[in-house]
Parts: sequence; structure tokens; C-alpha cells
Amino acid sequence: MRRVKADLLVMGASQVVTVAPPPGTPAGPRSGKAMREVGVIPGGAVAARAGRIVAVGEETEVRGRVDLEPGARVVDAEGGTVLPGLIDPHTHALFAGWRADEFRLRLRGVPYLEILAAGGGILSTVRATRAASAGELARLLEGRLAAMLLCGVTTVEVKSGYGLSWPEEHKLLSVMAQVARSQPVEIVPTFLGAHAVPEEYKGNADGYVEHIVRVMLPEVARQGLARFVDVFCDEGVFDLDQTRHLLSAARKLGLGVRLHADELASLGGAELAAELGAASADHLLRSRPEGWRRMAQAGVVAVLLPGTALFLGKPYAPARDMIGAGVAVALATDFNPGTCPIASLPLVMGLACVGMGMEPEEVVVAVTANAALAVGRPDLGTLEVGKQADLVIFGVPGYEHIPYRMGGAPVSWVVKKGKVVVERGRLLESP
Ligand SMILES: [Zn+2]
Repeated sequence: MRRVKADLLVMGASQVVTVAPPPGTPAGPRSGKAMREVGVIPGGAVAARAGRIVAVGEETEVRGRVDLEPGARVVDAEGGTVLPGLIDPHTHALFAGWRADEFRLRLRGVPYLEILAAGGGILSTVRATRAASAGELARLLEGRLAAMLLCGVTTVEVKSGYGLSWPEEHKLLSVMAQVARSQPVEIVPTFLGAHAVPEEYKGNADGYVEHIVRVMLPEVARQGLARFVDVFCDEGVFDLDQTRHLLSAARKLGLGVRLHADELASLGGAELAAELGAASADHLLRSRPEGWRRMAQAGVVAVLLPGTALFLGKPYAPARDMIGAGVAVALATDFNPGTCPIASLPLVMGLACVGMGMEPEEVVVAVTANAALAVGRPDLGTLEVGKQADLVIFGVPGYEHIPYRMGGAPVSWVVKKGKVVVERGRLLESP
């Protein structure tokens, strides 16, 4: 075997979970039986150089053919389990203003429409976020990403959508760009101007959609502020025609598209995602078998959000039926102040097993390889030669402990782009 140079070696693991696809697996998101193949190497090791993986295999084999460069870092996993850095493909992590009062009202059974009428709901977050400065928002996002990193998450999709006017949406997308440079977690920025109809356009959703298409989207594309455009396509929000119009315009500008689909009602959002060639359709609590069939054919990833179903007391998405229909499933937190304040992706992995009947192997694929494709990053999500060296070491003897311990599996080390960013459970200030 060819010798390789390395500046990072991870050894001493009980297992390395590569999540590499088994030979013969078709390219693209993993579905069906391929969601159960996680590629375990007992006692494995990983080596990297300049942020890319250069060797993965059994420890003796990797050590035997890697030449460590002067100053190379050697990480002893001390019997832990090594996985690709986890990817959270759906969050609303950039907001000001929590909604704990609303939580209390919900617990008392007050209907959401009454909460809205009392000034609560999503538009209360919009008011608080508009009132916050870019600096305040940057600090909030940095703190949240640090918490996610300590859960083993190295890449996070973050949506705008609490601004709902061009200056305010621009502020949010600019904060994302700034925070992407100020800390180690990679941000996949998504423009969600169509998150809700703002007060200024009350009763005129069509007018707001037109404003997004004519004013906001061209600026988002011109300034390179977002990788994806998303729409909250559901009953009482944006309908299928408005969503199709907006996302078709986004595609023409070269932006990727994704959508909040079939959460509250069976509108056909899953079918629309397939028609548009979306990277993902998310939520899908009320999606239909015809929609799953089309998503499977079109290679659209289903991003399921069991934390939201749990928090709202709704039935979970039918993950087993969707996987049975050949749909590639990913998992995300949906972290947001109104409908899912859960920021822990490992906890969501546990919920997916307990609430939706997914297997431990499937939830591992869902937060690594499939989540990577849901955010358009095929260079992430598996431990294979040539991929970006993002990895997490959990202090557990096997990957099944991660969902089993319901968010409690300790993270001992995290490596981002080949650099140690969490050491023995502690965030490094300046990696
Ligand atoms: Zn969402």
C-alpha cells in the first residue's frame, strides 16, 4: 500500500463508523437497506492531512503506512466510538427572544390561534429579532453553535426567516456569513423569506411572494448570501402555487431549493419537492404514499424532525413507511423558539428510534451521509479518503449507545477540517 503523510491521527477507538456506502450502492442519498450499512471498523483509525482524510482502516494497517509530519496531532480515542461529524440539516437557530410564556399557555391547552391573537407565535420572534442588533444576533448564534458542537455536530443548516423584509433578512444572512468565519461549525445558509406573511403584508400573501421574487431573491443570489431557498408551504401559510412560483424563480437564479412540506395538512408538498428537484422536503407528518414514491424517484431527501412532533404532541412522521417506500431519510432538530427548542441532534436520534421505529444504523446514516446530501455537501458525512476531516468521538463502546442514551452519550473529541476543536469534552477557545 502507498505511504501517506498525515498531520492528524485518531487511534485507540473501539470502533470507527465510516458510514461509507457498501460497494455497488448507487450514488446519491441512501435509502432502503443501504440505510442500515454504517461500515464499522472494530479498532479502527483515521488519518488526515490539511483537513482531508488520507487513510481509514484497521489501526495497525493505518499506523503502518502513515508518516506523521512534524507537529502532527495524535488523538487517543480511549476506547470511544468515532463517527463522521454530525450534520443538522434543518434549524432556525438565528433568532432573538425565547417564547417561554407561550410554552406555559400551550401547556394549559390554549389554541395556537389564540396565542397568535395575543401577539405570540412566530411574529413575536420576528419583532424580537428585528429589534436585535447584528452583534447581539451573532453572539446568540455563536453560543448556540458552540452547544451543538459539544453534541458532536460540525455542520448546521441555518435558515433566515425572522426578518421578513429585505433589510432584516439581509441582516440575518450577513450575521450567518460573519459567524461562519468566527467559530468552527460550518453554516449552510438558507434564505427563508417565505417563513410567514409579515404584518406589513397581512392578508396579501401573493403580494409578499411577489416582493420576495422581485426584490429579495435577486439580491440573495447576487450577493451570494445563501446556498438554499426554503418556503413554509402549508395550510394557512404559503400554498402550492406560491411555493412553486418562488422556488422556480430561485432555481433560475442558480440557488438550491428545499421546503417545509406537509406538516399541518396534506397539500402535496412532497410531490412538489420532487417536481422541483429539491434537495429536501422537511417535516412530512401528513405526506402521502404518492409523494414518497415521487421523492424516492427524484432523489429528494426527507428531513424528519421528531423533536417538533414530540414538543407539539403530534404524531411522528411515518418514517418506517417512508423508508419502506424507498425514501432516503435524514434527521434534524428544527431548533427554533416556538415549536422545537431542542438543540441536541443526538437526542433527536434517540427520539427517531423510540418514536418512529428507526434502527440505530438508520439514524446514524440519517445524521451523517444523508444529512450531508440534504444540504448539498457530498464531501461530508462519511469517513472516506478524500472527504473533509470532520469527525466526532463519543465516549461509548459502540454507535448504538448514541440513540440509546437519548442525548446523554458523552462527546469527548471533535475534529473539524482536520483540527481538534473539542478536547476531552471541552470546547477549545482558539483551535
Ligand atoms: Zn423549520
